[in-house]
Amino acid sequence: MHMKNIRHSWAEPYKIKMVELLTMTTAAQRKKALVAAGYNTFLLKSEQVYIDLLTDSGTSAMSDRQWAGMMLGDEAYAGSRNFYHLEEVVQQTYGYKYLVPTHQGRGAENILSKVLIKKGDIIPGNMYFTTTRLHQELAGGKFEDVIIDEAHNPESEFPFKGNIDLDKLDRLVKKYGAKRIPYVSMATSVNMAGGQPISMANLKALRAYTKRHGIKVIHDMTRVAENAYFIKEREKGYKDKSIRQIVKEICSYTDGATMSAKKDALVNIGGFLAVNDWDVFEEARNLVVVYEGLHTYGGLAGRDMEAMAIGIGESVDDDHIRARVGQVIYLGQKMIEYDIPIVRPIGGHGIFVDAKKFLPHIPQEQYPAQTLAAEIYLDSGVRTMERGVVSAGRKADGSNYYPKLELVRFTIPRRVYTQAHMDVIAESTARAHLTKHSP
Ligand SMILES: *Cc1c(COP(=O)(O)O)cnc(C)c1O
Repeated sequence: MHMKNIRHSWAEPYKIKMVELLTMTTAAQRKKALVAAGYNTFLLKSEQVYIDLLTDSGTSAMSDRQWAGMMLGDEAYAGSRNFYHLEEVVQQTYGYKYLVPTHQGRGAENILSKVLIKKGDIIPGNMYFTTTRLHQELAGGKFEDVIIDEAHNPESEFPFKGNIDLDKLDRLVKKYGAKRIPYVSMATSVNMAGGQPISMANLKALRAYTKRHGIKVIHDMTRVAENAYFIKEREKGYKDKSIRQIVKEICSYTDGATMSAKKDALVNIGGFLAVNDWDVFEEARNLVVVYEGLHTYGGLAGRDMEAMAIGIGESVDDDHIRARVGQVIYLGQKMIEYDIPIVRPIGGHGIFVDAKKFLPHIPQEQYPAQTLAAEIYLDSGVRTMERGVVSAGRKADGSNYYPKLELVRFTIPRRVYTQAHMDVIAESTARAHLTKHSP
């Protein structure tokens, strides 16, 4: 045996204290459930699913410390001590001055858009996210995509496919004038591009450019810790910095942020808006009362704010994030070993399988991504998410949109599944290739 190239593995920086039992199903039960769901895995009941990879949102496992924090909930209507704890953690971890809690990310997006956007404004961003763009539009703005071209190419191995193309941004500024652009909507770990990171160099350049033109940068920081991990791994000068330091530096180049704490921050519900500008804060603090709740709870129970405060601290721990992204990469590499075509480079929160390439005998009119998702469920009870013709919806005349990409998304919840689960997922996906589908 060769002893030279022994892998230096990461392993989970925790052990398991309590387990959640899963429903084990037979092939016959899965077939029945799938037919009842109209072959749409989204419509399956969670109890019919063995390993659920539909989303990484609100599906994390909380730690013993977070659960202990839940017992310290101060359910006062105003001035709960958990709010002050959360405020302190947000200030220390991210460096933003003022905090407005909200029930989840979209609550913060609603308020921020109402405060900053006027009718006719233009909001440039590194690829849209559904709720973010919708709130910008509802406030009277128009979203313009300024992500680099590489982000749209699943074959490109560019390490920072979340970067902003400053030439595209400059063209918008010249066309509309800086006055009509209240802020650049900058996301870390761009979800719709497959969890692809933005580089620190790009952020610095964006800060310099927007400063010259008097434009704010608002940070969708839902997956900021995962982005920081890729900066540490891939960008020169960051190898020896901690995730905590990198996260704080990222935030320092922005003026404020919206957060869905249901992702990186390891809670099942929660979010916030954080800004540096007192005037923006004051307006947001008034609006949150209308839409979410008083500004010291924003639609959350005191215990939820406590769990979030503790979860934020755990989310920027180096060992945590290495194991988190490490597990996603482990699954991706297993898939590559089985010759399953996936979007590269592997992103921070999930794997995207190119169903058109994987099942080339199925024409797009016959839903290759949906077929693959159904096949995997039938085989093993693993639930994935179709990102192709079905998700794209239909035109007014009832005919299908045909998007360029037919993907199946495998989103990995944080701290929930084991490496053995990852093996089952990859094996089940590989087997789907062997099934004969009659045309
Ligand atoms: C989930 C998400 C949101 C919205 O947050 P919710 O908590 O689901 O309301 C916004 N931006 C990104 C990038 C997200 O992934």
